[in-house]
Amino acid sequence: MVTRSADDWLAVLQQIPDPEIPVLNIVEMGIVRGVECTDSAVLVKITPTYMGCPAMDAITDDIKAALTPLAREENRTMTVELVYAPAWTTDWLTVAALDKLEAYGIAPPGKTTDKRALNGEAPEVACPKCKSAHTTLVSLFGSTACKSHYRCNDCAEPFDHFKCI
Ligand SMILES: [Zn+2]
Repeated sequence: MVTRSADDWLAVLQQIPDPEIPVLNIVEMGIVRGVECTDSAVLVKITPTYMGCPAMDAITDDIKAALTPLAREENRTMTVELVYAPAWTTDWLTVAALDKLEAYGIAPPGKTTDKRALNGEAPEVACPKCKSAHTTLVSLFGSTACKSHYRCNDCAEPFDHFKCI
């Protein structure tokens, strides 16, 4: 009987989409911190993205649903542990994840000049459709608390911006 390695478990985790941004998986999101294996146990460590993000319960359930039956085959227990430090930041998004976000129509974090945010102003966010920098903040909260909502002044495209933290 084959016993899965930490890399094998990571590959399974890469099949699990982020509940709020289904084009990204939870590994690309930087939510999965690591997998630790012993002969009898599999431990998956995850870090919440935004504090109090309601998606974390869904992510924990998704991980358990995907991994528990596999761990049971190997007579291993499966546990999900939340790790709060160091805190998740948008820097943990992989480059591939940033590109996928943009292709999905969400202006990714990190491709913005955030200096205006220091003055309490909305950061400059480029339109994911036409790349225009002439955009207007419509609402600090978009489809979820993790995103703010913008409209492009040039092509009139409404879009979400994944907030930079
Ligand atoms: Zn535009």
